Amino acid sequence: MGNISYQDVTKEFNDGAIVAVDDLSLEVEDGEFLVLLGPSGCGKSTTLRMLAGLETVTEGEISIDGERVTGLEPRERNVAMVFQNYALYPHLTVEDNIAFSLRMNTDLDEDAIREQVVETAELLDIQDLLEKKPGALSGGQQQRVALGRAIIRDPSVFLFDEPLSNLDAKLRADMRTELTRLQQELGVTSVYVTHDQSEAMTMGDRIAVMNDGKLQQVGGPNDVYDHPANEFVAGFIGEPSMNFLDVRFDREDGPRLTTTGDGGSFVYPLSEAVADRLGVSDGARLTLGVRPEDIQVDVEATGASGRAQRTTVDVVEPMGSDSFVYFDVDGTVWTGRTDRIDRQPGSELVYEFDESALYLFDEDGETIKSIGTGEGSFHRETEEPLVQE
Ligand code: ATP
Repeated sequence: MGNISYQDVTKEFNDGAIVAVDDLSLEVEDGEFLVLLGPSGCGKSTTLRMLAGLETVTEGEISIDGERVTGLEPRERNVAMVFQNYALYPHLTVEDNIAFSLRMNTDLDEDAIREQVVETAELLDIQDLLEKKPGALSGGQQQRVALGRAIIRDPSVFLFDEPLSNLDAKLRADMRTELTRLQQELGVTSVYVTHDQSEAMTMGDRIAVMNDGKLQQVGGPNDVYDHPANEFVAGFIGEPSMNFLDVRFDREDGPRLTTTGDGGSFVYPLSEAVADRLGVSDGARLTLGVRPEDIQVDVEATGASGRAQRTTVDVVEPMGSDSFVYFDVDGTVWTGRTDRIDRQPGSELVYEFDESALYLFDEDGETIKSIGTGEGSFHRETEEPLVQE
């Protein structure tokens, strides 16, 4: 068992001058892999450290399995934490490092401890390293030993604080897969902190996105990608990031979105069906969003949809399997992700994107429309129009 509950948790530093975590309420299910994702300084480590007991809570309650742990010492919480710096004892062998907590906290005899260490080492494929000292291991091997030390304690909760950030890209990708497999195998509730959205997308059962101490959204990876709650989440999830443009919504002469930039030429006709469901009035100022992978680049300008836009190529970056194309949209650089193309900077480019790929956000950054054109794509139908007529 390992349910976790944060209830209205706030953490202040420096007598309230810094609010690191602001009124956080969050539930993590037993056996779930929850990723806390956000930019540097958003409060994710503090959220994790409060759960571990390494930081006090200013207000609110944290419970594990229904038991309030807010006032308990770290060692009374049955959580195991794995950090970015592996915190191994350099003078001890791998075997002694892994066995350390069993020797300290249990009265198991040496044979029983040895048996558990070997079992854990086999799980992590480090059985051949047991006699070595940490200094003789690679970063990836050290990270496995650190994992072994956490696993052998058989905790109700694993806490990971950016555990892979010291590893090179290839090893990081391997360890991601391995950690996910291990967590599924062990079924232990895990909370994993990262600022890397691709790590969050690939590993988390659910992702909790934080910004500025506040929880922005909690949902499955596809959910936060397809239906971000706001502009911040939309921009943070997805690589390359979503493209944005400030636009104005008008219905006269047919519903459309027009750039608000001076001398801009961007005009995007909307269908009546979509325009009707946005819940915004004529003249409303909105932010348009579209993901690079949803833009068709280098299309023939047939004029059929009226949505093809002309621009010039800024840069093309070949990525092997595909290309990133950077181009100008009324003074803003947009990115398109497309099949391999070979284009010179400055050459003309026609691009287009479907209405279903269109995202819209209001002036407070809240989502008005997300991916698709169905029921779940419109988020303010029942609300008051943004601008009163
Ligand atoms: P990072 O990825 O850079 O560690 P984070 O999202 O984990 O960022 P936290 O480390 O939780 O963010 O920090 C949140 C805020 O609280 C930051 O503004 C940070 O400077 C502040 N903070 C964290 N620990 C302390 C402390 N011990 N004393 C004062 N301020 C702190």
